[in-house]
Amino acid sequence: MSKKRIAVLGIILEANVFAPVTRRVDFENYQLLQGEELRAVVGYLGLSDVGDWEIVPILVTAAESGGPLDHDDYLSFIDDIEQRLREAGPVDGVFIYGHGAGRTTALDDMDGDYFARVRAIVGPQIPIVAELDLHANLSDEMVAAADILVGYRTNPHVDQVARAKECAEHLQRLLLGEKATVAYQRLPLVTAQVAQLTAPDKPYGELMVYAEELMEREEVANVTLLSGFSFGDTPYNGFAICVTTWDDQDAATSLCDDLAQKAWGMRQRFVASPNTIADAVELEKAAAANGAAAPRVYADIADNPGGGGRGNTIHLLKAFAEAGIRNVMAGVYFDPALVERAVEAGEGATFDAVFNAEEQNALSGKWATPVRVDHLFEGQFVGKAEINEGMNVRLGPSAVLSVNDGEVKIVVCTLRHQVLSPEYFEVAGLDVRTANAVIVKSRGHFRAAFEPIADTSQVHEVDGPGLTTADISSIEWTSLPRPVYPIDPVEHWQTASVARSTVVAA
Ligand SMILES: [Zn+2]
Repeated sequence: MSKKRIAVLGIILEANVFAPVTRRVDFENYQLLQGEELRAVVGYLGLSDVGDWEIVPILVTAAESGGPLDHDDYLSFIDDIEQRLREAGPVDGVFIYGHGAGRTTALDDMDGDYFARVRAIVGPQIPIVAELDLHANLSDEMVAAADILVGYRTNPHVDQVARAKECAEHLQRLLLGEKATVAYQRLPLVTAQVAQLTAPDKPYGELMVYAEELMEREEVANVTLLSGFSFGDTPYNGFAICVTTWDDQDAATSLCDDLAQKAWGMRQRFVASPNTIADAVELEKAAAANGAAAPRVYADIADNPGGGGRGNTIHLLKAFAEAGIRNVMAGVYFDPALVERAVEAGEGATFDAVFNAEEQNALSGKWATPVRVDHLFEGQFVGKAEINEGMNVRLGPSAVLSVNDGEVKIVVCTLRHQVLSPEYFEVAGLDVRTANAVIVKSRGHFRAAFEPIADTSQVHEVDGPGLTTADISSIEWTSLPRPVYPIDPVEHWQTASVARSTVVAA
């Protein structure tokens, strides 16, 4: 018997509608896997450990979170995918290594669009299983096009590999002819980005524990709980629940309703009130005065490149520098023009820097200050931390600039990136363990690798101006379904799970 042939593909973009357009080159600079390179990643994901399959590598590509993908560039990826799928000949199954919060400049549901295109090519009988980020905005099209959707269960996201294996196990059963039945619904609930951690003592963690208990039932294939990505600003936004059972529609529907009730009951716990920049300065002053455990970590959550932030707002950094905070390491700041100036000046030189001299986004702010060029380097490494293990990280030509006689050291780079681990400083020759205060351009994913070296009580979220601010009521939403908690009062809500068959038939 010949081996089953499984096609693997995916376009991964968490699109922040308020951020500048993302282009094909942003994917090429981040991750674009085809052919043997993709086959190697599939090996790492462990798909072939589950079934003795022939992997048909199509294309998997990802960019750092940013604005909607230029639609022509999107179509260029689609051309690649469609052509390779057709050239590959008949396949027995498809694994989509996806995200679920993509937009293009013309589509508010990029993922639903390419899922449907793949379905159209392989036909209705071929199983499609898709892995989604926990921040996916669940659309009806995505549910209709895939047999089973499997969302990450962790935030910070450290279970991509486990979920890929889970997808493979589902695929195996679908290939044997079992039938997946699905119920899903979206709640009128936008959870604060910083209230989405899945530690067991957090509300999301509690829901996950419950979901995992349900998944032990024989009839339940998967329970997916998606926080959604609010800055996508789509009609599919909102906390979403998707339950897949093995040929048991009633179970899927009742469990989905049950989970929706539970999540809605917890809605007040999904609201967050992070520190202001002034709070952070006071916190650090007090910590330094009291000799608190170091390093103290300050997450610049309003400017998280992992959520489409520009990675260059200077408000928190400038406040620390102006307050005379000592022994600070800050990174990674996206400012290609500033790196160029530093390279011209050379290592050891001082010059009058202007941060964000060429940035268009007013929220980024500008900052003129004398700096010293401590170090120039090519920012490239292969990640070793659990969150980015094996990932080829490219920051491009980069510099360490210091201000206040070396008390504040700033890592500046030319390719925008969220900080996922201390490695983003190590590549610059900086050891964050020796800092008093570390400012990270990240919302929460840094936690997985920073919390082993920084006491959790010394990790602080700081809000301010930026494309990923926690102050969601300040944003001019256009497509977010209203009313939505906590922006609006939601007087009447009742659970309303949708069975997938209803959608397909419609
Ligand atoms: Zn995510």
